[in-house]
Amino acid sequence: MLTRRDKVLLAMLAAALLGILLVMALLGWYLWRESVVAEEARLGRLASHLGEQTEQAIVDASDLLDHLNRLEAVPCSPEHLDALQEAAIVRPHVRAIGYWQATERQCGVGFIQGLPLKPPQASRIYDTGVIAWWPGPDTAVGGVELFLIRFGEYDLAIDPWLVINPGLLAEQKVELWVEGMSMAVHPPGAGLPPPTELTPGLTVDRANKLILARFSLGTLFPIDIVAMQPLGLFWHRYFPTLIGAGLLGMLLAVLWLFVVLHYSRHHLSLLAELRDAIGGGQLSVVYQPIVDLSSGCCVGAEALARWRRDNGEAIGPDVFVPMAEESGQATDLTLAVLRVVLAELGDLLRSDPNLVINLNLSGGDLASPRFSQALTRMLQTAKVAPASIKLEITECSLLNTSHVSKHISSLRALGHRIAIDDFGTGYSSLVYLENLELDTLKIDKTFVDAIESHAVTSSVIGHIIEMASSLRLDIVAEGIESAHQARWLLEQRVAFGQGYHFSRPLTAEHFRHWCDKGTGAAAIT
Ligand code: C2E
Ligand code: MG
Ligand code: MG
Repeated sequence: MLTRRDKVLLAMLAAALLGILLVMALLGWYLWRESVVAEEARLGRLASHLGEQTEQAIVDASDLLDHLNRLEAVPCSPEHLDALQEAAIVRPHVRAIGYWQATERQCGVGFIQGLPLKPPQASRIYDTGVIAWWPGPDTAVGGVELFLIRFGEYDLAIDPWLVINPGLLAEQKVELWVEGMSMAVHPPGAGLPPPTELTPGLTVDRANKLILARFSLGTLFPIDIVAMQPLGLFWHRYFPTLIGAGLLGMLLAVLWLFVVLHYSRHHLSLLAELRDAIGGGQLSVVYQPIVDLSSGCCVGAEALARWRRDNGEAIGPDVFVPMAEESGQATDLTLAVLRVVLAELGDLLRSDPNLVINLNLSGGDLASPRFSQALTRMLQTAKVAPASIKLEITECSLLNTSHVSKHISSLRALGHRIAIDDFGTGYSSLVYLENLELDTLKIDKTFVDAIESHAVTSSVIGHIIEMASSLRLDIVAEGIESAHQARWLLEQRVAFGQGYHFSRPLTAEHFRHWCDKGTGAAAIT
């Protein structure tokens, strides 16, 4: 059987692992996205660079052809050949310039000597008269597939790989497409898919461990660039980022573990301290007076538990009551409070049988035989009448306990009166209450807060009061903070009230004093 401590530790460990997994998963996802975005941007920059260079080279080629056609030198004369030479020399990508008469090459400069290139069919014939042959086996010279462009009496042979800067492409396979036709591929025979088969941007092909990219631009000509690289290369490029982020992830994980451990240690020590406080009688009790709204007289008080840790820190009941309930110490807590009440106010309760102290019960108390037995025994020992201790039960505990009516009946048979606490915050209806033997209904503060205007008669509190009266229940309004609220409640025939307007919770000594002086009477009027 697991102890409570083991359970808390196990829960914390599970929370810690879950937290780490979550952090790692989020980090992994984030890194992947960031790397893909960075890679997309890198390839995008490369593609627009290649595209612009290609465009410039084609525009320059057509300008050059225009210029050559306007040369006035005698064709194939030394001056003519010099002019061609000059044009070629400043353009390393232009491998040859030829002068043609109809279908015969008359002369030229560059590395095409001997037989001229006469590919059978042009790839493109433009309206301007420009004819172009895309690189292919028919345009190859010495293994280099050339791009041929002819206008008028001249043609140019261009090496597309000298147009673009291959140094940029060292690591990846790239293919350049102009007007839907392959212009250049690096390295030769790379076997890249055509752009039509790829979606724009980055595609991750996990099956083949590849990253494919397609970028298109088309200011003058439609240009597509397809790039491919192994996924491993991609990881390698972003390795430093990954390492950095991995370390960050570890740091976060360690931090998270530290927080969880710190919390669990704190929680466990708090729990152990609470156990000591309950067992060792270190809980204190304050009393919030309950007054008769018509006379302002003190009719009793609600006992409220207080806990101050050894280090002086005050822990509110909203924290330690649920802790006690979760750790199975709820009944011990209720009995510890009762013990203090009887010790501090036993004499007052014995001497004034009309004074009633309300004791808050926790979830399991109602159905616990141990509780009712201890209650009876303690009251007998203190010689205090059961009617002097009213038991407050919350709506929630009613709903979570079976045979509620039986338990309530047996407590009433012992002589106690029963109040339903925080009414209106749970889900029980007044019809449900009709079947229970109750004495008092405490209207929750939230409804009292709503008493702001005189139009409040139509609100929920009006109905609660009406129906509680029809069930012949005493009504106590909780959390009264103003004279206006007190007056309104009195007008609605609400008999009792409790709240800061009358008094904050007081120590036993102050409560005796407060009750003696009847301070509440002055507060209402
Ligand atoms: P509750 O039983 O409804 O007690 C009333 C709470 O409202 C008290 O808070 C009280 O100080 C506060 N209160 C009273 N009048 C006013 C007012 O005019 N304005 C405002 N703003 N608040 C007002 P407290 O003492 O912090 O207790 C909170 C809750 O903790 C209690 O609500 C009760 O449910 C629980 N609790 C306190 N002591 C015990 C205990 O001994 N055993 C159990 N099981 N629960 C307890
Ligand atoms: Mg209460
Ligand atoms: Mg209450």
